[in-house]
Amino acid sequence: MHDSSPAFHPETLAIISGRPPRDSDEPLNVPVHLASTYVAGGEREYGRYANPSWTAFETALGALEGGRCVSFASGIAAISAVLDLVEPGGTVVAPLHSYTGTIGQLDDRASRGQLRVVYVDIANTEEVAAASAGAALVWIETPTNPALELADISAIALAAHEHGALVAVDNTFATPVLQRPLELGADIVVHSATKYISGHSDALMGAVVTAIDAHHDAILGRRSLYGAIPAPFESFLALRGLRTLSVRLSRAQDSAQELVRRLEGHPELEEVRYPGFGAIVSIVVRGGADAADAAISRARLWLHATSLGSVESTFERRRRWPAERPTIPEGLVRLSVGLEHVDDLHADLIAALGR
Ligand SMILES: *Cc1c(COP(=O)(O)O)cnc(C)c1O
Repeated sequence: MHDSSPAFHPETLAIISGRPPRDSDEPLNVPVHLASTYVAGGEREYGRYANPSWTAFETALGALEGGRCVSFASGIAAISAVLDLVEPGGTVVAPLHSYTGTIGQLDDRASRGQLRVVYVDIANTEEVAAASAGAALVWIETPTNPALELADISAIALAAHEHGALVAVDNTFATPVLQRPLELGADIVVHSATKYISGHSDALMGAVVTAIDAHHDAILGRRSLYGAIPAPFESFLALRGLRTLSVRLSRAQDSAQELVRRLEGHPELEEVRYPGFGAIVSIVVRGGADAADAAISRARLWLHATSLGSVESTFERRRRWPAERPTIPEGLVRLSVGLEHVDDLHADLIAALGR
C-alpha cells in the first residue's frame, strides 16, 4: 500500500491513498479480490479477517480522517460496532435528532437493558456537557439528520473527556472533506459510506475511524467476531467513489448554497434550513404533509427517494417515516443536492412548489 503523508491536502490524499506499490506491471488500483481463504502462514488467513480490497478503501478513508479505518457492511453495522464498546448498563448521550436508524438501535439496546440513553439538543453544548457526566459515550451527529443542527465537536469532546466519556461523531453528512472530527478531539468517526463517499446510489457500506490503537483493535475484533464485513466489490466501488468525493461535494455544495439563496423567502416555504456548508438542505413546505407530498409528486427532475449524497438530486418528506421524531415538522422535505445544473434543479423545485 502506498503510504500517505499527512503533509498532503485531503484532495490529494483521496487520490493517492490505498494504491498498490508503484512497481512495473502493478495495476494503479487494487482490484476486486474475491477470496474466502488464503494460503496459511501469512497475515490474512481467512476472508472474514482480511481482504486487500477492504484494506485499499480503509487506507484511503483513514488517511482522509487522520486515523485508522475499519470498514463494515453498512453504516448501521459500523454504528453497532461502536455501541458495542459501551459496557453493559453504560450511558450513551445522543442527539434527539439523530439518524432514525441510530435512534432505533439505541432504543432497541436500551429496551433490552443493555444501555441507558439520554437524548439531548446537540446544539446546546452546556446541556451535552452536563449530560456527559457519568456517561460512557457521547454520540454526536453534526449536522443532524434532517434538522441540520450543528454541534461544537471540540467543546463537547473537552467536556466529555473530563468525565471519561468516549466521543464518537457520525460524519456522514460533512465527510472528511468538510469536517475532520479526530482533529477536533473526537475519539471515533463513523460513516455511512453508502452516502457521499460511494456517491452513486449503488453500494451500501460503513466505516469506523479511530484515533488510538486500542479502539482500532476493539472495533476490528468485533468485525471479525460478529462478521459485519463489507463485500470486496462494494469496497472497490466505495474507494472509486472516494477518489472523486471532493469534486462532487464541492459542486453539490455550490449548488446547495445557490438554491438556498434563491429559495429564501419563497411564499410556499415556511423555512429554509441550511447549516452553512455541505449539500443537504431542509425546506419546510407551507401546508404540512399534504402540501409537501403534492410538491414532491409534481417534481420531474428531483427523485423521490430516501438516502442522500449521490450524484442524483433526491428529496423526501422525512415524517413519512413513522420512526422520525415528531419534533421534525410534517412539511419538512430534506433535499440532497446532486450534480445536475443548478438552474434545472431550481426550475424544477419552483414548478413543483407552485400551485
Ligand atoms: C444512512 C445513514 C446511516 C446508516 O447507514 P447505512 O449505510 O444506511 O447503514 C447512518 N448515519 C447517517 C447520518 C446516515 O445518513
